[in-house]
Amino acid sequence: MSSYDVAIIGSGIAGASLAAEIAPHARVAVLEAEDQPGYHATGRSAAFWSETYGGPGIQPLTSASGPFMTDFLEPLGSLHIGRAEDAAEVDAFFAEFEGSGVVLEQRDPRETIPGLRPEWTLGAWEPSCAYIDVAGLHADCLARARRAGAELKLCAAVEEMQRTGDGWALQTRSGGIGARVVVNAAGAWADRVAALAGARPIGIQPYRRTMVQLRTDPAPPSGLPHVGDIRGSFYFKPEAGGRLWLSPHDEIATDPCDAQPEELDVAIAIDRFEHVVDWRVEKLERKWAGLRSFAPDRLPIYGFDPRVPGFFWCAGQGGFGIQTAPAAAKLAAALLLGVTPEAAVAAIDPQRYAAARFA
Ligand SMILES: Cc1cc2nc3c(=O)[nH]c(=O)nc-3n(C[C@H](O)[C@H](O)[C@H](O)COP(=O)(O)OP(=O)(O)OC[C@H]3O[C@@H](n4cnc5c(N)ncnc54)[C@H](O)[C@@H]3O)c2cc1C
Repeated sequence: MSSYDVAIIGSGIAGASLAAEIAPHARVAVLEAEDQPGYHATGRSAAFWSETYGGPGIQPLTSASGPFMTDFLEPLGSLHIGRAEDAAEVDAFFAEFEGSGVVLEQRDPRETIPGLRPEWTLGAWEPSCAYIDVAGLHADCLARARRAGAELKLCAAVEEMQRTGDGWALQTRSGGIGARVVVNAAGAWADRVAALAGARPIGIQPYRRTMVQLRTDPAPPSGLPHVGDIRGSFYFKPEAGGRLWLSPHDEIATDPCDAQPEELDVAIAIDRFEHVVDWRVEKLERKWAGLRSFAPDRLPIYGFDPRVPGFFWCAGQGGFGIQTAPAAAKLAAALLLGVTPEAAVAAIDPQRYAAARFA
């Protein structure tokens, strides 16, 4: 049975980015249930980086991640729009990020979005919002991990875990391995993996989110930013080839699974879109869904389990796991290796994300 310092369960962006950080310092195996990495949430995201997305509890991780992913970001900008009755939400949004360093400006959305329905009069402009090349970022993490000696094992669903002296024996669908530390980076399955380890599940709940790719008439104008409802009932963004990605911002609680889009959610997405602009939806080219998995307080969890030795949480990334991955991985690596976090994340309070907050 091969033995490792660290076995990371899950090869999505959480497991891959952490593997890249710790592989230079430890013998690492990344165990993935599927036959390819990134098949679940990581491969299904809306692929944007927004410092305000997820609120002030997520923003420090997002902002600190930006400089480490510039090779994978493209300028986009985001316009958060509202109607007259949403004025309090717009004010609250500005107030939430005051003093955070995130640049936000008032902007009349009618100047930016042609064909906008007349009731959408309020806008908060977030210039730093960017596209993320998610596949590129994820592949880069896996490549860095591999170069530093980490081994990625596919078709290796972890089915059993046992404490053995000061470590673990793991039974996977493709054989057994030993490890001193086990990392739970299992996304929607994080509570199930915790139960396998004899740890108390935290209450990580997966929620399904739907995305559609549309052809519209007119096509999205050049320079269209990401556009989101200040109340969070839709967002859309332009994509290559004159396409548009749209989400109804749905959050349907579900068990961990290979999430598929429901017709009703697709219809809701298009209906909401048609209440924002007068553009005609010409073609629904693609639809997909994925799971966003949240802890009860909607903050991610990085740190050792307070009760089960050698069991480390890297879970609950919700809807922000890509944009926060570089900084989160640096923070988590320092906690796992027991070293001082590097300067880029030194100002981030790890207690905020500790597993012990649920003890
Ligand atoms: C529609 C949608 C839009 C999103 N948009 C954005 C966005 O614009 N920006 C952003 O930053 N984030 C976004 N997110 C969120 C982001 O995708 C997630 O936070 C992130 O991908 C979570 O990564 P992960 O590695 O934790 O999970 P996953 O990618 O799901 O990886 C977990 C892996 O663990 C594996 N696994 C589970 N159990 C076991 C086991 N027992 N043994 C072995 N392997 C196991 C699974 O097979 C899976 O591959 C979006 C998510 C969705 C669904």
